[in-house]
Amino acid sequence: MNQNNMLYIGGMSVEDIAQQFQTPLYVYDENKLTDKMDAFVNLFKSDQFDCEVLYASKAFSCKAVLELAHKHGMCLDVVSGGELYTAKAANFPMERIYFHGNNKSITEIKMAFAYGIGCIIVDNIMEAYQVAEIAKTYNKPMKTMLRVNPGVEAHTHEYIVTAHVDSKFGISINRMDEIWEVVSTLNAVDNIEFIGFHAHIGSQIFDAQAFKAEIETMCQFISNFEQTYGYRASALDLGGGFAAYYTSEDAPIPLPEVCKMILDTCTNEFKHYNLGIQKVMIEPGRSIVAEAGSSLYRVGFLKQTQSKNYLFVDGGMADNIRPALYQAKYNADIANKMNAEKDTIYTIAGKCCESGDILIKDIALPKAEPNDLLVMYTTGAYGFSMASGYNRLLRPAVVFVKDGKGRVAVRRESYDDLIALDCGENDE
Ligand code: PLP
Repeated sequence: MNQNNMLYIGGMSVEDIAQQFQTPLYVYDENKLTDKMDAFVNLFKSDQFDCEVLYASKAFSCKAVLELAHKHGMCLDVVSGGELYTAKAANFPMERIYFHGNNKSITEIKMAFAYGIGCIIVDNIMEAYQVAEIAKTYNKPMKTMLRVNPGVEAHTHEYIVTAHVDSKFGISINRMDEIWEVVSTLNAVDNIEFIGFHAHIGSQIFDAQAFKAEIETMCQFISNFEQTYGYRASALDLGGGFAAYYTSEDAPIPLPEVCKMILDTCTNEFKHYNLGIQKVMIEPGRSIVAEAGSSLYRVGFLKQTQSKNYLFVDGGMADNIRPALYQAKYNADIANKMNAEKDTIYTIAGKCCESGDILIKDIALPKAEPNDLLVMYTTGAYGFSMASGYNRLLRPAVVFVKDGKGRVAVRRESYDDLIALDCGENDE
């Protein structure tokens, strides 16, 4: 919304948000967040099998967002002890948590058992032996799945494709004997139940056919596997990768369409192969949180070079590494000049000591002045969660805004926080 030249987020003017919470700042429109959660949970339902939507918390994890995810009916995907610990602190029901990761430590696996989480998604053969060993020392039931690699590649940026055959994640479906070794190793342990297979074919997927190909390939594999080894899988987890809208170059598949396509394909393929799958999961991360989040910066100095107009902001690659890491593109506005003509082309650069600290290359904006507010849209996923402390910049706060009021979800780092873990010569 935009009133009197000023952008509003969650019913609050961006100038008021900046005054109250300072910049740089991650701002989430709380209703947009929960609408997305509700949409996924409501659309991903079938009368043929159980359905679960797991929020992939790597996209954005803090207590406040996990509290919302639980309240709005989601399960949770975590990939580290830290993400699991955050879930525990947010009182997320442990039995609704799935633990991923290609190199879980012994401490993390023990943590999963001690906390009593729902399911460990094993990633490789060595992990299977490790989980089996640890399980024997706990008198607690644990469900397990295996991440396999179906070799289906979603057409997206190379660095965020994870399912090619040499991927560090999962075991290729061509390596059936190795997969059987995992399944039989885990199932041999009394308190472990191996329930089925997981795959994740990429991120920012724009083509619904990629999901269809994934399901077809997985179902054929599960059928072959059942015929060869007699193991009947009861669960299929299709991973995440649902796209978000960043710029006009992006056309995410409408959610009702992609959910229907997944559910219909599953129904057909399960019938076709006569599979015993009773539960299907998906794991959206980015698509839940990306569009609800924006980054708010104050404009500082402006500088002209021979061919560029630089606009410097009070954050940069430390709070959003994605443009530098994989040339991610974003849209932005001068939030206090929403109706002004966009007559100047700017390069938006941060304040880090790196020439690569460019947030947006060549964007048309109204003529900017120091103290203007720059809003960068769709930074809600993999922004805060990939933030670093580079140059010892203070990590920005995270604020959720709803019905005209903001609340702090993560407080701004202070200089004392910054050195809290440092040990100098004279410290005890
Ligand atoms: N599940 C798994 C196993 C993943 O590796 C990822 C992302 O890397 C996700 C879910 C979430 O993907 P996205 O945020 O693209 O939905």
